[in-house]
Amino acid sequence: MERLQVHLDEAALRANLATVRRLAGPTTPIMGVVKANAYGHGLIKTSELLVRHGVHHLAVADVEEACRLRDAGLAVPITILAPTSADAARAVVTGRLQASLSDLASARHLNRAAARYGSRAQVHVEIDTGLSRYGWSPTASGLAEIESLTRLGRLAVAGVFTHLSGGCPEELADQLRLFGNAYERVCAALGHRPVRHALASTALAACLRDHAPQTMIRPGALLYGVAPRCESVPAPAGLRPVLSLTSRVALLRSVPAGSAVGYEAAYRASRDALVALVPAGFGDGIPRQLAGIGRALVRTHEAPIIDVAMSHLAIDVTGIPGAGVGDIVTLIGSQGGHSIDVQEWASLTGAVNSDLLTGIAPTLPRAVSSAACAQGARSA
Ligand SMILES: *Cc1c(COP(=O)(O)O)cnc(C)c1O
Repeated sequence: MERLQVHLDEAALRANLATVRRLAGPTTPIMGVVKANAYGHGLIKTSELLVRHGVHHLAVADVEEACRLRDAGLAVPITILAPTSADAARAVVTGRLQASLSDLASARHLNRAAARYGSRAQVHVEIDTGLSRYGWSPTASGLAEIESLTRLGRLAVAGVFTHLSGGCPEELADQLRLFGNAYERVCAALGHRPVRHALASTALAACLRDHAPQTMIRPGALLYGVAPRCESVPAPAGLRPVLSLTSRVALLRSVPAGSAVGYEAAYRASRDALVALVPAGFGDGIPRQLAGIGRALVRTHEAPIIDVAMSHLAIDVTGIPGAGVGDIVTLIGSQGGHSIDVQEWASLTGAVNSDLLTGIAPTLPRAVSSAACAQGARSA
């Protein structure tokens, strides 16, 4: 029996894919972004699910994540959304990975590695449209550098892309226009028209696909059922959280009125209370700030979170009929008519959805389930 279990709801993932396809057009290929351990959901299991449901291209943060996917037997194209160091170039070539390019030094490392292995390195040329993170600026000198890639000989430019900096839909549309112009000039420099991709979750949710004909999209958040960051862009209808998080009651204790619970009396019982101890804490990614304001679900009832320690938390189960050791404790997910999503954690703690999700410990087991499996309130 696991202390704390991450469940992935396959039906929710499929529903989110359907939503993404509705926003992008049903035939637009999807590069599913699974960086940062698939936004905390679990890199391998999530990627397998995405591929099973028709996502034929994945994007990761670094070569390590890409190699883990290859080692797990995933054969689909994988793009690395960061520059390639000299050390990583060989793994990119031998792993048949696709690199993002925003500088000539990386291009030369890749070219050299490709020459050594008698192959070609697949690359995606990144254009900066305002994020000022990676990517060539679409200036004359930037375009000249991009053109020089064709002379290296061992690089195959598979894509041209940009990552939008967000903001309101008007700003996004401006960035897409800038990218559209840059794309044409890059194509002229390269002498062919590679796959073009710019839309991630926010721009998809803002229905901006008509502002630029994309031949591929690159969503992350929406796949996981997480609303885009932007306040002026409403979450698309039908989004369903993929991840739920459950534990079990390990011990019950009666706490007389006036007693303290937790370090430095984090909580003081105002009446005789029944407290359940749950073996999950901030070391697992449950925010400490939920103490005193968050809630869990037990036997389809709400149980206030009263204390969060490193590996344990305490919840108030006073008055929950039949509450007992072994009961399922839902920290994220649904029970009965109640549901708790990561957005609730974000609102209560002031953190960002994806920040909280990526904080869920990668060592916890991930189980693929239908939502119903995570809902039962009875102990096993
Ligand atoms: C993270 C990331 C994405 C996905 O962004 P979402 O807003 O989660 O959809 C797409 N492209 C790049 C380059 C990224 O770094």
